[in-house]
Amino acid sequence: MSFSALSLNTQLVDTLAELGYQQPTPIQVEAIPAILTKQDVMAGAQTGTGKTAAFALPILQLLMADNQSDHAAKAIRALVLVPTRELALQVQQSFVKYAKGTDIRVGIAYGGVSIEAQQAVFNAGIDVLIATPGRLLDHLRQGALNLNQLNTLVFDEADRMLDMGFMDEIQAVLKQVPAQRQTLLFSATLDDSIFSFSKNLLRDPKRIEV
Ligand code: AMP
Repeated sequence: MSFSALSLNTQLVDTLAELGYQQPTPIQVEAIPAILTKQDVMAGAQTGTGKTAAFALPILQLLMADNQSDHAAKAIRALVLVPTRELALQVQQSFVKYAKGTDIRVGIAYGGVSIEAQQAVFNAGIDVLIATPGRLLDHLRQGALNLNQLNTLVFDEADRMLDMGFMDEIQAVLKQVPAQRQTLLFSATLDDSIFSFSKNLLRDPKRIEV
């Protein structure tokens, strides 16, 4: 199996070759085509399975296509919610690495640092935002961010987000994103709490377990 067989564009395939990725991992084989066709996905995958690239690559491709069709649209169209600052930084670095040579701009929002510095980056225009729920809400409450144009919402390490008690923040964020959207949920465990959390969030999701 090759990355191009998963319908990834030549720009991304070339970048992956430069990075030395020889073939997609099992979660990438399952998730990438589904995400490219705008399906919802619910995936049980641990760190180390290649889960970040499994959502970052197709999201970048969708954003690249969108930028080509309407270059005037400068709004956040993909949001990745993560439980911790460390994961936010890791996911951002992955996006930046895979977005090399594209016009996609990646923003980040996590607590414990100056809110103004993050806002300056947002004001310059970003296509995708990686955020922890609490700091994202701070930005939304200050009117620094607008999620009206969001197409894709990702929950990364959803089980950890629930364990850390982010449910209220997540519900508040959900009130500010379009109902008509693609939703992707990644979690190390798929237990009852994840299923009940996902019930009103995901529409006929493709289930993936690796
Ligand atoms: P993750 O599970 O997203 O934390 O990724 C684990 C590591 O695998 C990261 O360092 C990625 O850069 C790397 N990786 C992801 N996909 C591939 C692939 N298809 N081939 C080689 N390395 C990969």
